[in-house]
Amino acid sequence: MADSTVEAPPGEDEWLPLALVNTRVTGSRGVFERLPDDDAVTSWLLGHGVAGGAGRHGIVSLRSDVRTVLEALPAAGALPDQALARVNAAAADPVTPRLTADRTLRWEPVGPCSATALIAREAIRLAVSDAAPRLRVCAADDCDRMFVQDHGRRIWCTPRCGTRMRVQRHLARRQDVAQ
Ligand SMILES: [Zn+2]
Repeated sequence: MADSTVEAPPGEDEWLPLALVNTRVTGSRGVFERLPDDDAVTSWLLGHGVAGGAGRHGIVSLRSDVRTVLEALPAAGALPDQALARVNAAAADPVTPRLTADRTLRWEPVGPCSATALIAREAIRLAVSDAAPRLRVCAADDCDRMFVQDHGRRIWCTPRCGTRMRVQRHLARRQDVAQ
């Protein structure tokens, strides 16, 4: 089961929405929740360089919708419209134009929902990036973390999941032989 000391699956460092999705791991050994309360949400956001607080409710509902959209991306067909509408709505939080000293236009979030808006916008950017068709869910039965497949055959989020599953299968086979 994942814990905070586990190495990050490929793609997490680059894509904040992927990191958010992976704060909740569901599998055969139950649910592992890294954002159980507002404090955990605040420190997770700060740890990922996101200023502007967001309540737990907003973040975990966005997490669920982002996951639904990300899971649907590699397959053909329309994206799930309700989750998509909520991600788009979160991304549409007020922004303000800012001219920087090097003459660049930057759109910066306004107001208390800036963290969710920022993550929703990153999710949209991920959805149209070349990483989208390579999004995968870990094949381990006790892990559903998502990752960007960095080579053609990778099915585990991290080598740790692959090793754990191989050991489980090996033990199961030995039990079969012993019976
Ligand atoms: Zn895994």
